[in-house]
Amino acid sequence: GSDAAEPVIPFAQPGSLTRVYAVASGKGGVGKSSVTVNLAAALAKRGLSVGVVDADIYGHSVPRMLGVEDKPTQVDNMIMPPQAYGVKVISIGMFTPGNTPVVWRGPMLHRALQQFLADVWWGDLDVLLMDLPPGTGDVAISVAQLVPNAEILVVTTPQLAAAEVAERAGAIATQTHQQVVGVVENMSWLELPDGSRMEVFGSGGGEAVSDALTRTLGARVPLLGQIPLDTRLREAGDAGAPIVLAEPESAAAQALEKIADGL
Ligand code: ADP
Repeated sequence: GSDAAEPVIPFAQPGSLTRVYAVASGKGGVGKSSVTVNLAAALAKRGLSVGVVDADIYGHSVPRMLGVEDKPTQVDNMIMPPQAYGVKVISIGMFTPGNTPVVWRGPMLHRALQQFLADVWWGDLDVLLMDLPPGTGDVAISVAQLVPNAEILVVTTPQLAAAEVAERAGAIATQTHQQVVGVVENMSWLELPDGSRMEVFGSGGGEAVSDALTRTLGARVPLLGQIPLDTRLREAGDAGAPIVLAEPESAAAQALEKIADGL
């Protein structure tokens, strides 16, 4: 048999003090990565030691949203992650040449994730956020195997059709025996100049996912917050400065701060 020892993942060891959150969504484009980077920045602002693993093979937008252009470096046998705003970042996109799309097969993804968790010099993290690809794919299963104590954070829009898909992404926790820490509803409304709210994507999705997962898992899965649509949130992401830092007074930033408090 093989005598190669399995790489040690510090976050998965008994007694690890790092809270690990796997940020999941049913569909793409609901704001999962935006929520991930803003929570990371909000937690780092509080003085916590924070890392982000961008495991979204389709999107890998985390480095851009945090303004990270540096590549990881290698020191001895460890990978040193680049940092921004006090957040250490590793992305699957940092290991693919240019913008070339790479077809990652399940086992390759698993090995890549394992390396991100075991061979990156994270130091003593208080919080590790993992931005998962949308849906209930190989990566979610790999995370559950590699870091069984990772808690799932589900991001959805208010749209009920989207909420049903998001619920499936959360319900995977029954099979993997993970905790679901809560639900975030994003793009909840657009505030109009007269102060009224336009519900662009309908309403009730976050509450629906929270209720359904609470029933399925037999444990309270709270709706941690609702984030309004805000052009500045997108602009801040495009500019590599999360809105919680760039526009901390905005309603969207305040909602994200409240969600960070609930973690
Ligand atoms: P996902 O990770 O779910 O694919 P992203 O975080 O990449 O989603 O968001 C998709 C797009 O929507 C991005 O351009 C992002 O800037 C934008 N976006 C996300 N949330 C909001 C929001 N609350 N208001 C305005 N734009 C948003």
